[in-house]
Amino acid sequence: MIIKKLAFSGFRNLNDDSITPNENINVIWGNNAQGKTNLLEAIWLFTGGHSFRGNKDSELPKIGGDGSARLDAEFFSEMRDQKASLIIKDGRRSSVINGIVKKTGSALVGKICAVIFSPEHLLLVKDGPQKRRTFIDGAICQVKPAYTKLIAGYNRSLLQRNTLLKDIFKHPELMDTMEVWDERLIVLGAQVIRERVKYIEKLAPRVAEIYKGISKDREKIELKYVASGLEGDLHQLSDPEIEELLRNALKKSRQADLRAGFTTVGPHRDDVDITLDGLSARTYGSQGQQRSVVLSLKLAEADILEENLGEAPLVLLDDVMSELDGSRQDYLLNHLSDRQVFITCCSPETLNLMEKGKSIFVENGKVE
Ligand code: ATP
Ligand code: MG
Repeated sequence: MIIKKLAFSGFRNLNDDSITPNENINVIWGNNAQGKTNLLEAIWLFTGGHSFRGNKDSELPKIGGDGSARLDAEFFSEMRDQKASLIIKDGRRSSVINGIVKKTGSALVGKICAVIFSPEHLLLVKDGPQKRRTFIDGAICQVKPAYTKLIAGYNRSLLQRNTLLKDIFKHPELMDTMEVWDERLIVLGAQVIRERVKYIEKLAPRVAEIYKGISKDREKIELKYVASGLEGDLHQLSDPEIEELLRNALKKSRQADLRAGFTTVGPHRDDVDITLDGLSARTYGSQGQQRSVVLSLKLAEADILEENLGEAPLVLLDDVMSELDGSRQDYLLNHLSDRQVFITCCSPETLNLMEKGKSIFVENGKVE
């Protein structure tokens, strides 16, 4: 997938203009607060996703403008040249895909695919298990849309069981219905665990390979799915075996759950353990190492996406260069060139490391 041209008008602080990116590496550089991330965001919005900075659609048009913004892209995908436009007006999105007007922005989903790394994504390593679960779940949904339903179903039965746990306090006779709710949770929960374990099995070797490249083989990274309350190597178990483990874990934790008023074991409490040479990346990793870990996760996610789509997703990297030493920067600039990559950075020295590619300079909303 290649963006050949991107035009923007009324978007954020950017002057109305367009860029014609290189097929490989594009480095967007300039001082702080000039519009580099805004430009990257303009590309990202073509995935149909929301602002990766958590902004509302109404915050995207230029402040003081007419309240609307328009982005137009010419891109090569599915073996042909295509066009797409995204229009944001009155806080609502609409789009045009190859001349056909669509009422929503989400109609763009699947047309342009990208993975993005921004500094907020460092929380994927630094923060609690929730961030890692969300990453894995999101990644699985992209390649297996039915998983969205599975997760929603699991969350629904979890909510019902939790409500019951609280009600039993006042109505002890409800205790008899517990078994039924547990069984539903067990069946769906085991499927969730199985899907996540399968995804980690696919992701882990790719992450290891990429991390090896980034760190010049200095450290070894390992990923492991850790299921709360379940003993044993999940990678070796079948669905019924995982169900049995989950059944026992729920039985064992029932008294504790009744006291707590919520379910204390299950996939909603699971984690992905990330270690570097055997030490937790979350607890012991340096800033550069944590950055390299998140990058490896994102690039491995792109690999799997590519395998499923038969098309290389765009790679958007916001502010990754800081805290990475020369050899790690070199890897990003010179070893990802089978994909179109957009990297933002502040220092022009980074450009000297780039063997081939295009530099895009941004100053006060003006793109050169
Ligand atoms: P840094 O190196 O610090 O990350 P940057 O070049 O990535 O800087 P951007 O995040 O792209 O900077 O933001 C550039 C400027 O755009 C900010 O100063 C911000 O105030 C401004 N800006 C953001 N949204 C809008 C908007 N809707 N209208 C006008 N200006 C905006
Ligand atoms: Mg920025």
